Amino acid sequence: MELFRCEVCGYVHSGDEAPEKCPKCGVDKEKFTEIEEEAADKIVRSDYTNKLQMHLFSLLEEIEAIAEEGIEDDLDPGCVKIFKRAHKDANETKRMIVAELQGHMKKGKWGVE
Ligand SMILES: [Zn+2]
Repeated sequence: MELFRCEVCGYVHSGDEAPEKCPKCGVDKEKFTEIEEEAADKIVRSDYTNKLQMHLFSLLEEIEAIAEEGIEDDLDPGCVKIFKRAHKDANETKRMIVAELQGHMKKGKWGVE
């Protein structure tokens, strides 16, 4: 299986040949170029980690929301301290994930699913 990139919008298609039309921007098959093996390997190799990072990101959003509820509930200083710490750590980790994934996109470690 090969990877083909739309030169117009960057959509990546996997298959034996380029699609008839780009699903995202609608241009014809001729606007697709095959991604060279080394670059394609990089995309495929990064796919699993990218998915893990995105899953982690959504769990961290949940942690942030729980922590906000706990801070609001304000039972006692010990609990609030834990909720504040969890909120800060989740937020920082989310920002780290965003920076990391932006780096992956710039370095071509992105594109399959
Ligand atoms: Zn396109």
